[in-house]
Amino acid sequence: DHTQLLINGQFIDAASGYNSVLPCMIIFVTIELIHDDFLALGKTFPTLDPRTGDVIARVAEGDAEDINRAVAAARKAFDEGPWPKMTAYERSRIMFRFADLLEKHTEEVATLETWDNGKPFEQAAKIEIPMVVRMFRYYAGWADKIHGLTVPADGQHHVQTLHEPYGVAGLIIPWNFPLLLYSWKVGPALACGNTVVLKTAEQTPLSALYVSKLFHESGLPPGVLNVVSGFGPTAGASLSSHMDVNKLSFTGSTATGKVVLGLAANSNLKPVTLELGGKSPFIVCEDGDIDKAVELAHSALFFNQGQCCCAGSRTLVHESVYDEFVEKAKARALKRVVGDPFKTGIEQGPQIDNEQFQKILKYIRSGIESGATLETGGEQLGSKGYYIQPTVFSNVQDDMLIAREEIFGPVQSISKFKDLNEAVQKANASSYGLAAGVFTQNLETANTLTRALRVGTVWINCYDIFDAAVPFGGFKMSGQGREKGIYGLSSYLQIKAVVTPLKNSAWL
Ligand code: NAD
Repeated sequence: DHTQLLINGQFIDAASGYNSVLPCMIIFVTIELIHDDFLALGKTFPTLDPRTGDVIARVAEGDAEDINRAVAAARKAFDEGPWPKMTAYERSRIMFRFADLLEKHTEEVATLETWDNGKPFEQAAKIEIPMVVRMFRYYAGWADKIHGLTVPADGQHHVQTLHEPYGVAGLIIPWNFPLLLYSWKVGPALACGNTVVLKTAEQTPLSALYVSKLFHESGLPPGVLNVVSGFGPTAGASLSSHMDVNKLSFTGSTATGKVVLGLAANSNLKPVTLELGGKSPFIVCEDGDIDKAVELAHSALFFNQGQCCCAGSRTLVHESVYDEFVEKAKARALKRVVGDPFKTGIEQGPQIDNEQFQKILKYIRSGIESGATLETGGEQLGSKGYYIQPTVFSNVQDDMLIAREEIFGPVQSISKFKDLNEAVQKANASSYGLAAGVFTQNLETANTLTRALRVGTVWINCYDIFDAAVPFGGFKMSGQGREKGIYGLSSYLQIKAVVTPLKNSAWL
């Protein structure tokens, strides 16, 4: 049942695949008869193992009709309760129980994540799942601390604000951090008392279904959290344009973010939070320890197979240390341990799927053709699955495609700058503004860069620090709104002002 849709607390088959028109039924049944999953009712799609391209499982494919069913369940659970009506303390306790249960199942959940996504199991088990647990505990802690204000008004009225949930929240997530991004959205949405319809990425549907079942075992009432697997233009678009969805939160590419925003605007004007793409600079100044800079810049780009929205994908190095840096960055990439993500000591697994794999190789070819220097890598590793050699380009110019567009793969692009002005000008010359790294021992330099960079996060002498309490989001075309931390709550709350006349003067 972990491959079905989770609607109203039940695992069920997709409604899609059954057309009420009789001729279509006949064709459909004929096709299904020769299909191995005939007995599994409703439409399904395969989810693949990136190590081999083999099918792991067939998963129920939700479509518009399934989104309708999920939204109806979430609507009922919101309007009739008990979720928004129970005390915030009770909500909080259910979320804490879920975090405990999830923690106990770390190994199974990390296994699913690695199997479906290809990320190293050790990273999933030791870093990501603990971060997911921490995120749910963080927002469980907030659930009973959300409150409004008493506002000093005109002296003749008592004015208070209530911070209320929107209602049904539609959440759409990508495949690169399936459960982490699940926690970034489901955590605050539920803590604030919303009910949820989550659309997972078609590449990685498995882990969200499994953990959502654990959530129900922790006492979550039916209908509060519904999970629909399916594709973007069908299930995702239906959710974005649904008239009964009151809030939308999307993580994915900037191109899809624009589509989703349009769908929301053209339906019921639901507010939208967007976490989108990036082309984040990692700035290496001349004053630091080069070996440390190399290691940090390496992990800033290569972590998670380079499939991070905030990957430090433009390594900008001061000219005085540039040659040494390039040499060492190349040596580090050559040492990177790539292989089966279930094995110990593996730093890099396969890319998510053939589409991304081909896209990355195309960017590598474009880098070579446009005149960047290929220091190492550049090709498929092995002959099976979607492994790519850790790749380093030097001599990358600002106008090259590899310097401007998101590659989303293990490809480091290094270029040089001569002074801080040029570093800032290069760093900001992007339509994105998600994050930046700064490597310096000089406080003045750090302060200057921190203020000059047009990005949502600046990591100084560190990278990818993602504590639950730290807000995350983009400037420019990297998104709108913030997730995580106290700022993440405001995306799921609307403010109601309550005004009552004061009959008697406040002063006797
Ligand atoms: P994508 O935009 O193709 O897909 C993301 C999600 O949107 C998936 O669930 C997909 O099914 C859905 N979707 C696709 N078309 C849709 C439509 N028309 N209507 C509604 N939903 C639709 O992105 P991807 O390729 O899966 O993920 C990689 C991208 O996500 C990268 O560009 C990366 O930078 C970005 N990303 C950003 C963040 C962030 O926090 N800023 C985090 C992770 C990934």
